[in-house]
Amino acid sequence: PVQESVDLHRILEECLSFIENEAFHRNIKIVRNFDPELPLITTDPSQLQQVFLNILNNAMDAVDKDGTVWIDTYYDDFRQQVVIRIADSGPGIPENIIDRIFDPFVTTKALGKGTGLGLSITYSIVQKLGGRITAENAAEEGKGAVFTVLLPVKAPV
Ligand code: ADP
Ligand code: MG
Repeated sequence: PVQESVDLHRILEECLSFIENEAFHRNIKIVRNFDPELPLITTDPSQLQQVFLNILNNAMDAVDKDGTVWIDTYYDDFRQQVVIRIADSGPGIPENIIDRIFDPFVTTKALGKGTGLGLSITYSIVQKLGGRITAENAAEEGKGAVFTVLLPVKAPV
């Protein structure tokens, strides 16, 4: 496996550069709250880019237009892991799929608009990188979805 010392914020900025034009035209604000103390992590940058792009594209679909996508990072010193939280102001994850959102072919999008594979691929990548991913809705109903990715600072051997 590819193992490099990776600046997570650089990967996130790369992903954002792919979507920021579209976001601007749909009046979707991107709010970064990046931890300046975030350490470099040993991982595969292109796999990680895939993870964030999938989550961000879903967030864009969910918001549709006139909303916000928040990206927060912080360092969990105790567990030696970095945490990336991507939240959006969309309608939230439909209750009937929230328990199987990471299963393949689960989609609520119109035929031809979604394969339902994005999050299952995302899930297996994060597993392979030694991390974890969770999906939930914001505490207040209808206040959007929150995806949290946790990654070890040192890659698993
Ligand atoms: P696809 O995007 O092709 O539908 P995904 O695996 O990426 O497949 O996502 C599966 C489903 O999870 C989506 O169809 C949608 O119903 C739900 N979902 C994913 N991200 C969000 C989000 N940010 N807000 C609300 N629902 C979401
Ligand atoms: Mg998707």
